[in-house]
Formats: sequence, structure tokens, C-alpha cells
Amino acid sequence: PSSKREGFPSPPSTSWSDIGALHGVREELHMAIVQPIRRPEVFKRLGISAPRGVLLWGPPGNGKTMLARAVASEGRAGFIAVKGPELLNKYVGESERSVRAVFARARASSPCVIFFDEIDALVPRRSDKLSEASTNIVNTLLTELDGLSERKAIYVIGATNRPDMIDPALLRPGRFDKLLYVDLPKGLERVEIGRTVVNREQVPVRGGLLGDDWRGVEELLASDRADGMSGADIAALVTEAATTALRDALGQAMHHSHGEDDLHGPSTEQSLREQAE
Ligand code: ATP
Repeated sequence: PSSKREGFPSPPSTSWSDIGALHGVREELHMAIVQPIRRPEVFKRLGISAPRGVLLWGPPGNGKTMLARAVASEGRAGFIAVKGPELLNKYVGESERSVRAVFARARASSPCVIFFDEIDALVPRRSDKLSEASTNIVNTLLTELDGLSERKAIYVIGATNRPDMIDPALLRPGRFDKLLYVDLPKGLERVEIGRTVVNREQVPVRGGLLGDDWRGVEELLASDRADGMSGADIAALVTEAATTALRDALGQAMHHSHGEDDLHGPSTEQSLREQAE
């Protein structure tokens, strides 16, 4: 029950320019959701129906949440984000009510994008041992998806690391019928993400904080030593490099101004940081 859940959902601030690489997925999302929101009449005239739901899948930390936010933002649509496990409630019927409430909120402020993160937790593959409660949640979600008419301009994006763990009924036509794989970045894609993070976080690279160190970071990202790094890992690396560079710069400033040896007292560091700002 965060404050973001209250009131009307407004478009998020994330845009395509905050995201590096993933060009194929962006293009697909643009055609599947952004364009239908912006130009509904064109799609109607041509008799093309936009997919009701898109499922983003792939390893964690590679931009699924960012993509969903950017789609809503580019379509100037409201955005409601729900984490699958958050909707699970031990009280009978409470989870279904929550699912219905999410769709009701979306209808009240269309166009709107609903993002179900960790959707596998909400709608696990139905098996014999699946509880009645889970079955009810799956059915509620299916009913809501089936009930969405295009004119309402409500689009649902699900995200999961484990698409094999999702109830297959959800993947039928008219439901989550578009599956997009959000892959780990490779080689130069990692460099592109690094640069995006630098721009986004406004890390002064040229003639500034990272200076020559930045070339080292880019070389690392491009090399196979960085294989397996996720977008989130890259963001952490860039932030870390910037923090280290800041600390070094502050240390040098300290030497020049006071010539002291102990640079690591928290109070000195704090006051230096304030001076630097
Ligand atoms: P999870 O499956 O863990 O929910 P996710 O795929 O939804 O992960 P995000 O939450 O969108 O991943 O990304 C986590 C963080 O990693 C972002 O806040 C961002 O800083 C960084 N990041 C990941 N991918 C990218 C990218 N392609 N471009 C820029 N930043 C990225």
C-alpha cells in the first residue's frame, strides 16, 4: 500500500532514452502498445487488433520494468505496477478482489498500462496440487483480460523470469499473446547501456569525474570478461566507478588544501562532499 497506489495513475517519467540496447524489443512494444494508444483510429481502420497482453520474459535485471514504464510514458498513458506476490493474500477472496480493483482503476484512467511483475507468482501453472485460491486468481485474471475491449485502451504487460511456470491458459490468443524475450546484453550492447546510465545519472565523464577511467570501464564492458553481466550489474558498476572517482577527487582536494594524511574520517569526507557540491 505505497502512496503510488493511491489516486489516479499518472504516466511515469522513464523514457526510451533511459534504456540502452534492447532495440528489437522496443520496436515491438512501440508497434504493439505505444502506436495503438496514440493512433487508435489507424489500427481500427486497418482492422489490426493490438495484442491485449504482452509478456516480457528473461533473466532478472535486464530492463523489463523499465521497458514497461517507458511504454506507458511514450503513450502518455497511466501506469499501474503490481508485483505478483503482493497481490497474494491469505484471506479468502481478497486476492481476486485486488486483481479486479487493479483493472477497475485502469478503466477509470485509460489509456493505461498495467504491469504485473513476477506474474508467475500470481498465476502459476495449474496442477493437481494447486490450491483452490490460486485457481480463483487465475480465473479472475482471465476474466478481466477477456473482458477488455480495445476501445478502453488498457494494455497489460506481464514480466517473469520463468515463463514455463505460468498457467498456459494465460498465453492463449487474446490474452498474453505476444511474448518478448529480454536478453542479457552482449559486447557493445553493454557499452551502450553503460553510456545510457552515465547520461541518465549525469555522471560527468568527459573532463570530469571519470575522465580516463571511463575508457577502462568501456573496455571492460566490451570484453568477454563482462559476459553474463546484466543491465543492473552494469548500472551498479558505473555507479561504483563514479563513487570511487569522487572519493579519489575529494582525497586529492584534501591533500591540496590541508595536506592531511587521514582522508577517511567520515566527518571530513562529509564536509568535503558538501564543499564539492
Ligand atoms: P527483475 O526481473 O529483477 O524485476 P527487470 O528485468 O525488471 O528485473 P529492471 O528493474 O528494469 O529489470 O532493471 C533494473 C535496473 O538495471 C534498472 O533500474 C536500470 O538501472 C538497470 N538496467 C537494466 N537494464 C538496463 C538497460 N537496458 N538500460 C539501462 N539500464 C538498465
